[in-house]
Amino acid sequence: MNHEDYMREALALARQAGLEGDVPVGCVIVKDGEIVGRGRNRREERGDATAHAELEAIRDACERLGSWRLHGCTLYVTLEPCPMCAGGIINSRIETVRYGVRDEKAGCCTSVLNLFEERFNHHPRIYQGPLEEECRAVLQDFFEHLRGPVGKDLKLL
Ligand SMILES: [Zn+2]
Repeated sequence: MNHEDYMREALALARQAGLEGDVPVGCVIVKDGEIVGRGRNRREERGDATAHAELEAIRDACERLGSWRLHGCTLYVTLEPCPMCAGGIINSRIETVRYGVRDEKAGCCTSVLNLFEERFNHHPRIYQGPLEEECRAVLQDFFEHLRGPVGKDLKLL
């Protein structure tokens, strides 16, 4: 599998989140070519402000690998991580992050600021892409649908 394949897995999780009424964000964590963690946004489903895709994937990977240290892991996420998730990425020592689309409102790996360049004890590598367009389209479709009669009262961002 290559970068695109892994991001497609993250996109599939994002679509699942969207079907459940959550902002469609999905995440997978890969080690030695194998997916060891999966997560999707479940903020609405759980009524939990911290139920973001990245944190779910990090918990899943830590459990599977039997360690809180995710050395040698790459995290693929469809949307640029927020400050909370960027913190989780630093705390779990993830080596590399690849995100699909920038989040100008909350992104903390490039857009609002870049936490990975600050004076913390761990500095993940950060790349944008692949599949930026697909990742953007999943979010746009979701919010266009929300503006229709069904979801116009929902405030998700
Ligand atoms: Zn987050």
